[in-house]
Amino acid sequence: MSKKSPAFQLYAADFFMDTIGWTNEEVGAYVRLLLYSWVNGPLPNDMKELSSIAQCGVKKFANNWKKLQTKFTPTGEGKYINLRLEETRDEQVAWREKSKIGGKRSARMREARKKGTHTDAEWIALVEMANYKCPRCKRKVVHFDKDRVMPVYQGGSDSIQNIQPLCAKCNSQKGPENTDHFKKQRTMALRELQPPLQPPLQPKGNPSSSSSSSPSVELDTNVSNIAKVSKSNSHCPHEKIIELYHKTLPMCPQVRTWPDHLKTILRSRWKTKNQDSIEFWERFFVYVSHSKWLTGQVKDWCANLEWLIRPTNFTKISNGSYHLNMNKTYKSMEGWIDAQR
Ligand SMILES: [Zn+2]
Repeated sequence: MSKKSPAFQLYAADFFMDTIGWTNEEVGAYVRLLLYSWVNGPLPNDMKELSSIAQCGVKKFANNWKKLQTKFTPTGEGKYINLRLEETRDEQVAWREKSKIGGKRSARMREARKKGTHTDAEWIALVEMANYKCPRCKRKVVHFDKDRVMPVYQGGSDSIQNIQPLCAKCNSQKGPENTDHFKKQRTMALRELQPPLQPPLQPKGNPSSSSSSSPSVELDTNVSNIAKVSKSNSHCPHEKIIELYHKTLPMCPQVRTWPDHLKTILRSRWKTKNQDSIEFWERFFVYVSHSKWLTGQVKDWCANLEWLIRPTNFTKISNGSYHLNMNKTYKSMEGWIDAQR
């Protein structure tokens, strides 16, 4: 057992109720016996020794012992223990052991983070790329564990290059194994996460409106029919959204195929609060149409649907990072929507 603890918890209400009707002498003797037992272990089964611990004459103590005895249980070695006190002792030992393990774990994690860290967006990109399939056992999985390819206790880092999404079973079974089951997919996921371009610098003279040369689509005209079709709060209507994208952004590359991993990404965007309606997507695409940068009017590059819905890109777009041609006051998507009202 590890070193002794100098203190224990006294459950005041229990103690008070337990000793109701006792004399002060009995309560005092009881407290002394408990304290002795906490420090030295089981009490001796010897009236003289006990009375000395309780600091009371032998005769008097023998009389008090009738009541005190009910609080102590004889052990196999003929000594006495207080069960509640021993439970408290066990709990303290268990808690100390647990804290020691927890402390070691967080110290290791701190070391791992010094070697490298990762962002939420990177982790989401990996999960999306995994597409509900554990790369180690190939089983279907809904929730992924963050597995460090080289375990942290072996000196592995917390960087995204050392992380793979595994099912809980594989994560707990793999032990010291450090096979990277996700190498190819990780490279793909991270490549797609990188925006292929940077937004242009604000041009001198600061054009305050997007109306000049943008072939933007007006809200409530071209797409209103589709908007009426569906307002869903659970099922992600991929086809409707793609149709809306084609109609609103004809200058952007057409969607030819829509594989499972893109369905997963679109579903994730759809599931986000306030994004689960066709009306939202209508506004989003119209907003995109106001960006010269995203619609190929600045460079020989045009965003496609896959690029638009990637988490980092989606957030940047919504924040107005690609709408530098717009008036500052309503550059973000939210501001722009407000300005339309
Ligand atoms: Zn697995």
